[in-house]
Amino acid sequence: MELYNTLTRQKEVFKPLNDKKVGLYCCGPTVYNYAHIGNLRTYIFEDLLRRVLEFNGYEVNHVMNITDVGHLTSDSDEGDDKMKKGAEREKKTVWEIAEHYTQAFLEDMDRLNLFMPKKKPKATDHIDCMIAQIKALEDNGHTYIGQNGNVYFDVSTMSNYGELAGLDKQELVAGQRVEIDQNKKNPADFVLWFVQSKHGDQEMQWDSPWGRGFPGWHIECSAMSVEYLGEQFDIHCGGVDHIPVHHTNEIAQAEGATGVHPWVKVWMHGEFLVLKDNAKMSKSADNFLTLRRLVEEGFDPLDYRYFCLQTHYRKQLFFDWESLKAARTGLRRLRDKVLNLKKELPANSSQLSAPNAVWTDKFRQAVNDDLNVSKALALAWEMLDDPNLDNADKLSTIVEFDRVLGLKLGEEEKVELPPQITQWIIERNEARHNKDWQKADEIRDQIEASGKWQVKDGGGGTEVFKK
Ligand code: AMP
Ligand code: ZN
Repeated sequence: MELYNTLTRQKEVFKPLNDKKVGLYCCGPTVYNYAHIGNLRTYIFEDLLRRVLEFNGYEVNHVMNITDVGHLTSDSDEGDDKMKKGAEREKKTVWEIAEHYTQAFLEDMDRLNLFMPKKKPKATDHIDCMIAQIKALEDNGHTYIGQNGNVYFDVSTMSNYGELAGLDKQELVAGQRVEIDQNKKNPADFVLWFVQSKHGDQEMQWDSPWGRGFPGWHIECSAMSVEYLGEQFDIHCGGVDHIPVHHTNEIAQAEGATGVHPWVKVWMHGEFLVLKDNAKMSKSADNFLTLRRLVEEGFDPLDYRYFCLQTHYRKQLFFDWESLKAARTGLRRLRDKVLNLKKELPANSSQLSAPNAVWTDKFRQAVNDDLNVSKALALAWEMLDDPNLDNADKLSTIVEFDRVLGLKLGEEEKVELPPQITQWIIERNEARHNKDWQKADEIRDQIEASGKWQVKDGGGGTEVFKK
């Protein structure tokens, strides 16, 4: 298998540290709002990576953190505290916000058919582990205390600082939009532990050797990944935005604390999903698209998965509704082909034959070339049209491919009704029960007004179909 390593800037043959076991760490969501579809593109890429590793017989210890502690949007004390902002917006406590959006995120993962990580450590459950890593950094001479009492990482103490971003220190500093902070020795230095923040009272605070406060926003990932995957492990992933700051600082923390170099063997980064007018999707801006929104527009979450799989993870992906519709058409055609194969098989042939070796080999070569899944998808289509293969072979081979594609190809499309439509169905059934035909007609018109749904009266009451 060959994977592109951001650290060396080349495709490399993948050799795990421990034979068939792979340690994989993926930066998880900050649970102050729904994930936007840009975030979800990155999680789809990471799921694809895990599936390809498993397809190759590796056992993957997949760890993803849940960031449920208030984080500032930057390293100095500027920007908003995301969790606090979410709590104020919804008039809830930060703990309630974290719980609600963690559940929403896990639902999104499930709808996109993403494998659950083996471990999903929450930041707030691992404050001790973060304090221990900061203590180790202090003992190793990598920290200082600012005039404000906050603990800073001193980047001048790490000779390889910035290696991942491929920039020298001068450029790296210039590249970071850092506010002049009188407490810092160097603009690239960053906070490990806050005892003071311009946001005043934080709901989430813990005791520490440096005073009561809360962790800086990079320490959880280096601390929890070392805790669950060891001082050195195989692969660390995230979106490209994490290369210059978050991952650069994670490396400094882990290597500064343990002295082990390189901490992570392969760094992999997913390119961004961007809107057609080149606007970046951002959770902090208020106009972001969620999976819920796509479902409200009548899409199956797997349409979005298919849409993402058509483009290599290292290329930017432009989103617009027309392209998503085209992906939906593609997925429906593929699904129908597979369902037809199933229907044509004799009723007693429940046992699948072995997947076709030649096609499976071609497929494996494609995905093993740095996850070239768009090529693998094209091969799936070609295989299904191969006149030399009988239906049983085609079916077993596509089922094998679907271990990587994760498109639930043997299953009928599941129609998810938006909550508003479900509510209207209940109200319409009630109106019909009360023989209020005028109201029933009005609700039917309301449901059909968007042009996406069609109402029929079935034995069980109102039935709604996707147009
Ligand atoms: P966050 O919740 O902001 O920490 O982001 C979660 C993940 O989504 C990280 O791996 C980010 O790098 C990634 N990400 C953020 N914005 C986008 C985007 N527009 N497209 C793809 N990935 C993104
Ligand atoms: Zn991280």
